[in-house]
Amino acid sequence: MKIGNLLYTGKAKDVYSSENNDNVIIKFRDDITAGDGEKKDNLQSKGECNSLISSKLFEVLEEKGIKTQYIKLIESGLILSEKLEMIPLEIIVRNIATGSIIKKFPFNKNQEFNPPIIQFDFKNDEYHDPMLNDDIILALKIANKEELKEIRKISLQINDILSKFLKKKGILLVDFKIEFGKNLNGDIRLGDEISPDTCRFWDIKTLKTLDKDLFRKGEGDVMDVYKKVCKLIVSEEDLKKNGELIWH
Ligand code: 5GP
Repeated sequence: MKIGNLLYTGKAKDVYSSENNDNVIIKFRDDITAGDGEKKDNLQSKGECNSLISSKLFEVLEEKGIKTQYIKLIESGLILSEKLEMIPLEIIVRNIATGSIIKKFPFNKNQEFNPPIIQFDFKNDEYHDPMLNDDIILALKIANKEELKEIRKISLQINDILSKFLKKKGILLVDFKIEFGKNLNGDIRLGDEISPDTCRFWDIKTLKTLDKDLFRKGEGDVMDVYKKVCKLIVSEEDLKKNGELIWH
């Protein structure tokens, strides 16, 4: 498949045009950032690893009826996706109290949220991604009431589907960040990625961190853990087909 022009470059991914105007090609890079972009590194094979994990999780969601931008994995590191106009919201779903929420509010560390908490942050580097409420979202015209309701509903469904899938793989889904966009027909679709860069994954037995918190805190070998997560989530067949560069 021919990769077209670079349309957009983010902190860890690039978006290219494809032969079909309705689609884009997303390249997962090895760059990793934390702390509002202050901490940066480049971890060999991270892009390939995350593209395989994200592909699998988007496939699981599509099988359960969630509409996403995902079309197919072209090869490790490259995903063909439907073109979306992204909504500048970071939707954070939390099952367990950890991370920024326990710094901002008097929750007990590791307390369970049942029902889960949905938090909206404004995806805006200039304003440093501040937390929003519904009225601010409506006033800024980021989304309308119906769209917000739909986004909440789909986010909870995604939490349910992924929590169950990951539990079977020995992973606890603690919290995660997702993003939505609108396709050329104006329909809302799940976009972006779902990977250890965007989720908190804990080992279900030991509660050990299996995600980007290792990089944020400067603990342990980040890529060792990402590869472990990849092996737990992606089938052996898909790994053999697409993962040679990562594993050898
Ligand atoms: P927290 O707000 O506790 O730092 O993050 C909550 C969850 O959302 C974590 O799983 C974290 O990885 C994810 N998250 C929140 N903001 C961002 C962001 O700007 N980029 C990425 N990659 N993940 C985010």
